Amino acid sequence: MYFELKLVIKYGGTSISTSKDIQAIAKYINQLSKKDQIVVVCSAVSGTTDDLIEISESIKKENKSKAEQLASKIINRHKQLAKQTVKKLNLQKKIVTKLDQDFSELLALIDGMVLLGEVTPRSMDYLISFGERLSIKLVSSAINDLGKKSIPLTGKEVGIVTDSKFGESKPLIDTTRLRISKTIDSLFSKKTIPIVGGFSGADQHGHITTFGRGGSDYSATIIGSCIKADEIWLMSDVNGLMTADPKIVKNAKVLKEVSYIEAIEMALFGAKQIHPRTFEPLLSKKIPMRIRSSFNTINEGTLVTASPASIKNTVKCVSNVQNNGLIDVQGGSMVGMPGTAAKIFETLAKAGINVMMISQNPSESSITIVVKNDDLDKAVSALEMELLGKIIKKLDVTTDVAIIALIGSGMRGTVGVASKVFGAIEKNKVNVSMITQGSSELNLAFVVKNSDTNAAVRALHDAFALEKIN
Ligand code: ASP
Ligand code: MG
Repeated sequence: MYFELKLVIKYGGTSISTSKDIQAIAKYINQLSKKDQIVVVCSAVSGTTDDLIEISESIKKENKSKAEQLASKIINRHKQLAKQTVKKLNLQKKIVTKLDQDFSELLALIDGMVLLGEVTPRSMDYLISFGERLSIKLVSSAINDLGKKSIPLTGKEVGIVTDSKFGESKPLIDTTRLRISKTIDSLFSKKTIPIVGGFSGADQHGHITTFGRGGSDYSATIIGSCIKADEIWLMSDVNGLMTADPKIVKNAKVLKEVSYIEAIEMALFGAKQIHPRTFEPLLSKKIPMRIRSSFNTINEGTLVTASPASIKNTVKCVSNVQNNGLIDVQGGSMVGMPGTAAKIFETLAKAGINVMMISQNPSESSITIVVKNDDLDKAVSALEMELLGKIIKKLDVTTDVAIIALIGSGMRGTVGVASKVFGAIEKNKVNVSMITQGSSELNLAFVVKNSDTNAAVRALHDAFALEKIN
């Protein structure tokens, strides 16, 4: 039989959080599988990974009953979903038995961690990989319920081999490719649809590892590149990448096509969170990706490719990230002192703080840093403890600021973008407190007060006529 396309289709947690959604997906995949070869990758049912993380926190606090209470919540949610989703009684019994085995293992693991009274990076990954272990069984069983062959596989079972950096592992790509292509080819030849758990793999010793939050996107592109898929679809609850947040701009549009590098920037700043390494496996093989909604499959979503057919617009989207804090670090002894910036960022890194934006004025007397509001307290106290009175004289802190970013590779080398941007902003009497532009000219970002976000985003969407983009 001839298949039209080889596809990897990844579902986010919100796409599989009710029995109706799971049944709809099973129907859709069953239909598609008549003409295409499909590997499905699933996240955990929404909220599950958060609950598992909370379990680890309860263990650290030696709160065993809270950990068990959260485990029951997870167990009941999945039991109920299994019963509501799978109609054939023999299949329903089978999946409940399989889930029960996972539940026992989860409870035994929690017991073990409680006894030890510690959460190591390795036990943490083992624990938080359970969400996907459970969700793939639900989806696979729903497909079986329609009379189609399908099996659930964890990342480890499908053949994802990683280094041993628990919590942020990377695949050993050659070994992974060999194993995955063997597993998947054999399933394809048996006309069985693989439902693979995203987010995790295993190191060479067989210990479960994860890729970090949102890692199922990355699993999908790893698998796609290993089997040389024709396309990878990321299905979630949004219609695609948009010209702006539709809650702010009423006539924001779904972008038809963007490049990998634009999508990477949009993923960092945009509403649709995508794991930062998702695009890596696609770059060399130039596999196209679609970002689509599982609830609106008529919509084609956004196509992400190496070189989009038409880049007529200089700017493709205006994104915003609110609720950040700005730290202005000042000190006369910073001028001409090599290593000052290094000390500042080392201090922040040691405190585990993610720096979102940086700028230094040419006089070198101040460096401005943007971090999340939630990290602000920790960042400021780390800088005060380590560096105040030494290389730093003064710290000025502003809370509740927003980063507004314009993204589009057409900005590169185009004269007048900045003046158009700040002209539009000025007209709206919005004050700008910091500006950065990467030398790639792919992203122009600036900082305003949270309360000025909507005005700034709307003004720029208007100025660049983004409602007419496609
Ligand atoms: N379930 C994992 C998380 O919530 C991975 C994913 O959703 O992509 O981070
Ligand atoms: Mg997710």
